[in-house]
Amino acid sequence: MIHTDGGSAGSDEREMIVGLARTVGEKFGLDYWRRQDELGAFPADAWREICRAGLCGVALPEEFGGAGLGMVEMALIVEELAAAGAGATVGQLFMINPIFGGVAVSRYGTPALQAAVLPPLVRGDLTCCMALTEPDAGTNTLEIRTSARPDGDGWLLRGTKIWITAVPDAAKMLVVARTRPLAEVAHRSDGISMFLIDLPRDGVAHESIPKVGTNTLAASTVHFDDVRVSGDELVGTLHGGWRELLDVLNTERIVTTAALVGAGRLAERLAVDYAAERKVFGATPIGAYQGIQFPLAQAHAELACARVMNLHAAGLHDAGLPYGREANMAKLVAAQAASAAIDRAMQTLGGMGFAKESHVERLWRDARLFKFAPVSEEMLLNYIAVHCLGMPRSY
Ligand SMILES: Cc1cc2nc3c(=O)[nH]c(=O)nc-3n(C[C@H](O)[C@H](O)[C@H](O)COP(=O)(O)OP(=O)(O)OC[C@H]3O[C@@H](n4cnc5c(N)ncnc54)[C@H](O)[C@@H]3O)c2cc1C
Repeated sequence: MIHTDGGSAGSDEREMIVGLARTVGEKFGLDYWRRQDELGAFPADAWREICRAGLCGVALPEEFGGAGLGMVEMALIVEELAAAGAGATVGQLFMINPIFGGVAVSRYGTPALQAAVLPPLVRGDLTCCMALTEPDAGTNTLEIRTSARPDGDGWLLRGTKIWITAVPDAAKMLVVARTRPLAEVAHRSDGISMFLIDLPRDGVAHESIPKVGTNTLAASTVHFDDVRVSGDELVGTLHGGWRELLDVLNTERIVTTAALVGAGRLAERLAVDYAAERKVFGATPIGAYQGIQFPLAQAHAELACARVMNLHAAGLHDAGLPYGREANMAKLVAAQAASAAIDRAMQTLGGMGFAKESHVERLWRDARLFKFAPVSEEMLLNYIAVHCLGMPRSY
């Protein structure tokens, strides 16, 4: 367990936390994740152990069982778990639980909701998911049409979401819906609200979408057919949820980047170890060839830069300062560098890189997702052009 005096962690404490994450991560190594991937099964054992070690609640308030630390510590933990064998997918477990459940409820939930949700979430007894994306809105999230119409002291939820992670395994879903129709608001960001609803639930139907990777976590289409939502399931400000949602989503970037840095580290290790042993032309191992070394060295340098930028963003977040630019730039570079590192690992292993037993192919399939989710390369470049360079918005 993480023991702390609260506040920010010192370097000894951070080392202890990273060591703890490494120990838990190594207990569920490459073979465990390959098996779960093949079964398409939620990594329940690993997640329970991660939570029992106090790693899920590292940045959540102590009064609810968390360690009361920050995003720097969460980033270090996620990176280490990814590097120990999980790959980038472990970041999604942190997104759906301590971020979508934990950050949303600890910052915007009522005291009653906090007391009901946060302790079981920190213990790993309650899994969350988050439903924002819609088939017709896509990246243009302000066009969402899922509506919550007033009904007595609550609402009736109606609409369709797509690509929602971990729905079959979740007990709670954070749903983003319009409580005022688009036609009636002055700004598209007005009239949006967040609800935390129980699953399974009358009127909620879902089906999994067969996909290329991240197979331990289902992604589903979700239909809401006049689902009755009670007043106490609202999270945050009625009609004013958009800014609050962005506050939650921004922390997600830091976790995604940390997971990608860890996945890149893991791929590098597999490649370097293999290249040191593999000989095809006489006694020289393939790792001695610059054609093998340079692309791995390039990806290593880029991952190191993304890591520093991400920890800087996390530090700004923990100090209560703006961190969006840094977090977005780190995520852009991390997704590219992790994909490059993993692809070069596959190249280094040659045919063996294509074999399930080498593990690289799972990392390769999983890492591809993060070039367009949770936020795409193009939207990050749009953000940098507009917010960092002051260029006109192109869309
Ligand atoms: C496995 C998986 C899990 C997911 N989990 C969740 C989840 O748990 N909850 C959730 O709410 N969502 C989830 N998502 C959705 C994910 O966040 C979206 O897929 C992502 O935001 C991209 O949206 P889209 O797929 O609709 O692409 P589109 O919006 O259709 O975009 C298609 C392409 O066009 C580009 N594009 C769009 N607009 C512009 C522009 N203005 N300038 C330049 N390029 C542009 C995009 O960058 C992209 O490359 C998940 C997706 C996947 C695949």
